[in-house]
Amino acid sequence: MARCLLNQHKLSSLIFTVIVLCLLANHSSIAEKLPRLEHQRVNQQSLNFLVIGDWGRKGDYNQSYVANQMGIVGEKLNIEFVISTGDNFYEDGLEGVEDPAFYESFVNIYTAPSLQKIWYNVLGNHDYRGDVEAQLSPILSQKDSRWVCLRSFILDAGIVEFFFVDTTPFVEKYFTDPEDHTYDWNGVLPRESYRAELLKDVDSALVQSKAKWKIVVGHHTIKTAGHHGNTQELVELLLPILKSNKVDAYINGHDHCLEHIMDKESGIQFFTSGGGSKAWRGDIQPWNAEELKLYYDGQGFMSVQISETNADIVFYDVFGKVLHTWSISKELKANA
Ligand SMILES: [Zn+2]
Repeated sequence: MARCLLNQHKLSSLIFTVIVLCLLANHSSIAEKLPRLEHQRVNQQSLNFLVIGDWGRKGDYNQSYVANQMGIVGEKLNIEFVISTGDNFYEDGLEGVEDPAFYESFVNIYTAPSLQKIWYNVLGNHDYRGDVEAQLSPILSQKDSRWVCLRSFILDAGIVEFFFVDTTPFVEKYFTDPEDHTYDWNGVLPRESYRAELLKDVDSALVQSKAKWKIVVGHHTIKTAGHHGNTQELVELLLPILKSNKVDAYINGHDHCLEHIMDKESGIQFFTSGGGSKAWRGDIQPWNAEELKLYYDGQGFMSVQISETNADIVFYDVFGKVLHTWSISKELKANA
């Protein structure tokens, strides 16, 4: 009897230990997950937003003209927010939270009433050449409440879930051959575990997502006919996660162009919106004409309208002229 009681006691201790361990494990997995932002829908018909990348040049290189057209299109579509694909401040990010470039390249440029919505920003390689913490600081949001910038995060907008991925730490050459640039790797090192953890978090967030539409946003290219070419590290590490989770689209900047590649094999749409200011590199690489739906070497931006069943994408140049439109239907995709 005594032995039996002892065993019961041991068993109770064991169960208690297991429960504590489970709670701890659960707690740590919650702590590791990507920050999740909820977007409160305004327009119930469709979710409308603009995408711009590679912009912050104090109005130069037609940045102000692109901003003006964004204001006009933003008004017409009654947009709910703007997505920035990174390289927010040239040449070397922000020097600190008091850097006047925040006003000269952002606050005083995107002044149209329709653009007074939240801007969801990721960081580009040029942003990593400055004070990264400054762009992530809530002090900037106090200066201009539109500003939201995190390294990686999820934006839950109901029918659409966006997965913003910090792609700069993936690129080997910034670490091994930084040329005369200095990168701010605080918070990123050790790189291998930062990258592995991020990939794991993005994958598990995508697996758990119940959203009708899944869109991944990052600064660097995965598929492009433009100057920088495909980012091999993302092709190897991120693309398989996008494929296995059947994401609808990957949106990036980095190449200073407007581009649409429809990947025939995976069905993923690759959109580049990196025409926020300096453009016209003039070096386009060959690409399968069946997949390359648009390559425009100049400035401009992109609009997206998403309903339960349809996504309509439009690219505009610096004059507001429509360069390319594309529609995706969920029903058609399900039958494909
Ligand atoms: Zn870039």
